[in-house]
Amino acid sequence: MREKLAKFMSGRYGPDALFRFQVGAALVLELLAIPLRRHGTLYSLMNYGAFVLLVWAVFRALSRNVQKRYLENLHFQELFGRARRQSRMNKEKFSQRKDYRFFVCPTCKTNLRVPKGKGEIYITCAKCGNRFRGKT
Ligand SMILES: [Zn+2]
Repeated sequence: MREKLAKFMSGRYGPDALFRFQVGAALVLELLAIPLRRHGTLYSLMNYGAFVLLVWAVFRALSRNVQKRYLENLHFQELFGRARRQSRMNKEKFSQRKDYRFFVCPTCKTNLRVPKGKGEIYITCAKCGNRFRGKT
């Protein structure tokens, strides 16, 4: 049985991070749909969405176009990582909001942190060296 499965999967892409995300999202959709059983359309839409996610996940795992699937996963992880970094940054900014003011460098878009209560000052970007005025 295990040999048959290994033979069947050889040359195919198999599960990856995007696969796990798709299966997880489908499960969450199914769970969220349970209390909505009485709302016919919404319930079937969520069920349909979960089904599409699962079919897509299985299609990707069984695909023989390994390079394309690999690139999809890479793109997904890049996007996901960016969202996670942004969320962590916002949390940090919020916890430091009493002591610091935050600026974005107009040139390179780097986030900059400046101590509060210094009045109007020149802020020098640590990354590109650009100087601009800001009120702290
Ligand atoms: Zn800069």
